Amino acid sequence: MAASRTALLVVLVSALLVLAVAAATVPAPAVPALVARAPAGGDEDPLNGLTARHLLIPVKGFPRKALRDNFDERRGLRPHEALDIMAPRGTPVVAADDGRVAKLFRSVAGGIAIYQFDPDERFTYYYAHLDHYASGLVEGARVKRGEVIGFVGTTGNAPANAPHLHFTVFRLGADKRWWQGKAVNPYAFLNES
Ligand SMILES: [Zn+2]
Repeated sequence: MAASRTALLVVLVSALLVLAVAAATVPAPAVPALVARAPAGGDEDPLNGLTARHLLIPVKGFPRKALRDNFDERRGLRPHEALDIMAPRGTPVVAADDGRVAKLFRSVAGGIAIYQFDPDERFTYYYAHLDHYASGLVEGARVKRGEVIGFVGTTGNAPANAPHLHFTVFRLGADKRWWQGKAVNPYAFLNES
């Protein structure tokens, strides 16, 4: 009896080892997912909140029919996870929603950029490659939907001959850190007026 138990154990352990080796030899995906994506539906359906915000296309006068969904495109090794809204340099960038300016941010990739909270501070709106900020805009300022907050440009890694607004929405975690959101595709949520 003891011997047959031992034999059974040996068989089980061998089987587990085979499985472990098989798992280890499955090739890793070529590009790791850099940012976890928000679930499409899920627990409390957090995206319902975005529909209710009735977000404005954040480039003044930009027609809805001209909007392109390039959220899922790859940019080099990274997923884009934003919309590029092409417009002449200097076109006013308007707040997509009411809310507080979370951060005036500058980076190598995004150039001159703004992170703005929604009124409930569950999301941030990210506007990048700005030519410059609207005069007087400061961190903590409350802006209104449609208010001019900056101007389209090519700062950061935007091509000099292709001015555009790089815009996305981040869903924030419980700690509401503006730099730690999960990107949400804003395409379906943007309205012409
Ligand atoms: Zn972009």
